[in-house]
Amino acid sequence: MAKRDYYEVLGVDRNASEAEIKKAYRRLARKYHPDVNKDDPNAAEKFKEINEAYRVLSDENLRRQYDQFGHAAFEGPNGTGGFGDFRDFDFGGFGDFDGFGDLFDMFFGGGMGRQRHRGPQRGADLHVNLQIEFEEAAFGVEKEVEVPRTETCPHCGGNRAEPGTPIHTCPECNGTGQVQRVQQTAFGRFVNVRTCPRCGGEGRTIETKCTRCGGTGQVRRVRRINVKVPAGVDDGFRLRVPGEGEAGTRGGPPGDLYVFITVKPHEFFRRQGDDVYLEFPISFVQAALGDEIEVPTLDGKVKLRIPEGTQTGTSFRLKGKGVVRLRGYGRGDQHVIVKVQTPTNLTPKQKEALRKWGESLGESVRPQQDKGFFGRVKEAFDGLGR
Ligand SMILES: [Zn+2]
Ligand SMILES: [Zn+2]
Repeated sequence: MAKRDYYEVLGVDRNASEAEIKKAYRRLARKYHPDVNKDDPNAAEKFKEINEAYRVLSDENLRRQYDQFGHAAFEGPNGTGGFGDFRDFDFGGFGDFDGFGDLFDMFFGGGMGRQRHRGPQRGADLHVNLQIEFEEAAFGVEKEVEVPRTETCPHCGGNRAEPGTPIHTCPECNGTGQVQRVQQTAFGRFVNVRTCPRCGGEGRTIETKCTRCGGTGQVRRVRRINVKVPAGVDDGFRLRVPGEGEAGTRGGPPGDLYVFITVKPHEFFRRQGDDVYLEFPISFVQAALGDEIEVPTLDGKVKLRIPEGTQTGTSFRLKGKGVVRLRGYGRGDQHVIVKVQTPTNLTPKQKEALRKWGESLGESVRPQQDKGFFGRVKEAFDGLGR
């Protein structure tokens, strides 16, 4: 049977407001509630359809998805509803049903709603911080982190009983973990399914609590966990280590461990993406005459040719001397930005030589290329009355 349009199910317009949708739903839910329609075999189906439509249209997000993709938005991999069955819905939002709330509690609260939380539950995810060196981020590293976490008790294996002592099937629920209670209400007779109070839904009882964990089935431990930090990570990166979070309960799988990476700043290098930047001082003479210099890289010193007449701030690229690319192949580059140092502490002889050199340039010792710039500066100061 083809699924009916949710708006059609609730009998509202496609651009109905939240309030209109809620109003329509309440009216229909009352009308088709299976316990007030015992004679109508289709009421339950209808009620389910109404609930499903309301579940989607009352949620801003789900409604947008539905508007865009229709029922296909929620279809599971094999054509099943991605929501699962009606009973898996979270009925948390029904609390504001004035006067109607009790009925819903009775209908869903005791049994269906809580029932699924009684099965195996996945453990919580954990987070730890890890600070690494600049070079370790560039090339990757293996580190140990200390993780305080809950683990399945090694003494009882999580079954909460002292080894060698008996574990019984719960006599109250016969191991099902649930008890049924029949209640009479204005709407008729309800079968109310509740979690067994005796065994807490586990279906079994123990005689002697495990001495190690006190009968909780879990212990707190600080674990040292080896973390492989891939080459190319950067500050703020988050690593997931599957299965190293908190232990699951009732046989559920453990959660994951998330490692938040911070990278210590380097004394000389700066990083931008996969590229490394280095400011490197050269002398006035090296800049003017050119030279071959040695600069540090992540791989040690390499030679760099400085051409004659290099200006301060000029950037040179060392290909493949950057950080290993986290996604993709190869490495980034290193950029060397040279800073020309003005000579200081000159001897009288050196000063004399410089003066002579200055005279050889003619009247002006100002840089030829930057006349425009200096001209503008002069104008600006003249304007200020200097
Ligand atoms: Zn134990
Ligand atoms: Zn029980």
